Amino acid sequence: MLHDAHNHLQDDWLRPYWEQIAADRATAGIGTMVVNGTCEADWPVVAELARRFAWVRPSYGLHPWDVGNASPGWRDALQRQLDADPRAAVGEIGLDRWILERARPDDPRLAGLRRASLAEQDEAFRWQLALAAERGRPASVHCLDAWGALSAALQETPRPARFLLHAYGGPVELIGPYAKLGAYFSFNGHRLGAPAGRARAERGRAVATALPAERLLVETDAPAMPLPRERRRFPLPARADGTEVAHPADLGATLAGLAELRGAEPAALAARLEANFHALFGAD
Ligand SMILES: [Zn+2]
Repeated sequence: MLHDAHNHLQDDWLRPYWEQIAADRATAGIGTMVVNGTCEADWPVVAELARRFAWVRPSYGLHPWDVGNASPGWRDALQRQLDADPRAAVGEIGLDRWILERARPDDPRLAGLRRASLAEQDEAFRWQLALAAERGRPASVHCLDAWGALSAALQETPRPARFLLHAYGGPVELIGPYAKLGAYFSFNGHRLGAPAGRARAERGRAVATALPAERLLVETDAPAMPLPRERRRFPLPARADGTEVAHPADLGATLAGLAELRGAEPAALAARLEANFHALFGAD
């Protein structure tokens, strides 16, 4: 059975489709979904989903994009969420220099956000990493364009024994060192859409084949990071601004794409991914 190591089912855009997604999940034979809250307003919605659906594994964190808008009491609120559910993981947390240096000023996903400096993000990230370590919870980590800072934080801060680098897009050379520190890596099928021959596609392919089999998971990051259209089996309507949306039940296509890239037999790869999921997130 495939498990979605990282998504955002709590997203407002998916809310009207929760029942449909639950039905599609059963049709597709998907198991657990790790649903990641990213800001204080999200956390109660993730908790509601975990109460409603037994297959939702809640995860609570302050995402680097949301660090700039957090309330002074966010740390207490996060601890209360974790206390309320011993199954809950920590995430999505992380570091993001892309929003500071490369994102377009009019990117609709960043509207209304105060973009926290890397130093501010780092402080929130290290505090949450240490919290996960102290509570013995796995953590889900986002990193864009901040690999040096991530390496430093992981080495200098108490960290959980196991953590996920979601949709890993970092340097191939860092995969080994991160694995030594306890990292697992989730592959996202969004990358299957990059045109062959382009540098980004080639780098994605190199990463997908270099990830160690015993640390590999799959994820959708839904509603973000949609699969290429021809691979989607469970389409959802695009957002009001035209942005296309990923469906969390479309994990079979992600597995198939990963198996193609790695030259692996899909059923054997799926069994490996399931064992890895339980090693990281525990039993169902
Ligand atoms: Zn995410």
